[in-house]
Amino acid sequence: MATITFIGLGNMGGPMVSNLLKAGHDITVFDLSTEAVEARVAEGAKAAATAAEAVQGAECVITMLPAGKHVEAVYLGAEGLLAQLPAGTLVVDSSTIAPETSRAVAEQARANDIPFLDAPVSGGVGGARAGALTFICGGAEATFNRARPILDVMAKNVFLAGDNGAGQIAKICNNMLLAILMTGTSEALALGVKNGLDPSVLSEIMKQSSGGNWALNGYNPWPGVMDGTPASRGYDGGFLVNLMNKDLGLAFDNAVGHHAAIPMGSLARNLFELHAGQGNGSLDFSSIQQFYTPDSEG
Ligand code: NAD
Repeated sequence: MATITFIGLGNMGGPMVSNLLKAGHDITVFDLSTEAVEARVAEGAKAAATAAEAVQGAECVITMLPAGKHVEAVYLGAEGLLAQLPAGTLVVDSSTIAPETSRAVAEQARANDIPFLDAPVSGGVGGARAGALTFICGGAEATFNRARPILDVMAKNVFLAGDNGAGQIAKICNNMLLAILMTGTSEALALGVKNGLDPSVLSEIMKQSSGGNWALNGYNPWPGVMDGTPASRGYDGGFLVNLMNKDLGLAFDNAVGHHAAIPMGSLARNLFELHAGQGNGSLDFSSIQQFYTPDSEG
């Protein structure tokens, strides 16, 4: 079992730590929120007063932070962890951030002989709780192989996408596609229902036809069509519109930087931004259905 420091105990990091503890790892945690720390200490984690204190004696450091600026603050600069960790300490950042930021952290890590993996995840809070996340990693193969037994505890899939930054790029591509699929699915359902079709019947037909996709299969955006989805509980929980917008912003910035055309991704981004601007930022992203059907139950 490994001695692991986990920093960032939010919606995702909290349950990820629970699974590492259940697997018998020795975990020290740090978060700016005392409440988040106490919840994990109640499950057997050790608490530290600072990030620097938390990493003392760690074989592996994992971070699960909101955005690039938090990752930079934790790792870079004279006060950052990379300046303090002994050479050889395995560092895994599972936050979803810009590939450029991740590569800058990786470069500093390399200069200090610290193996670094970007390892953003897909699967949401449900996946984090169930230990069924997909880790999309970027880094050296040897680093990936070293991290794998630890990631496996929290995962149903673990992929190596390429060198440092590749994990973030693959994650951004996936979430841009997810946004496009969810808006397209919502649009098709709204059109059918406007024509008098039953959304459940239409969903089943499209699922079994060429329009079948991940949103229809397990995350139907129309209320009441599928049990257990955010749509069937007022779009509460799940993957927030604000987080989707963060990821679409990363995709957009990356596309501009690479002269890549993303007309579908840009349109999806505009729809989700408009939706957030109408006060829906804290709803699940499948609530984009309401954008198409503001006056009906959908
Ligand atoms: P969250 O806001 O719930 O949790 C982030 C935690 O980091 C908070 O507890 C916060 O106090 C802590 N934190 C911030 N700055 C810190 C610092 N300097 N030191 C220590 N702790 C600090 O966010 P989340 O939903 O857990 O998401 C984390 C990451 O995972 C994000 O990058 C997000 O894009 C990604 N992600 C989220 C989901 C999801 O469904 N929530 C799904 C896939 C990926």
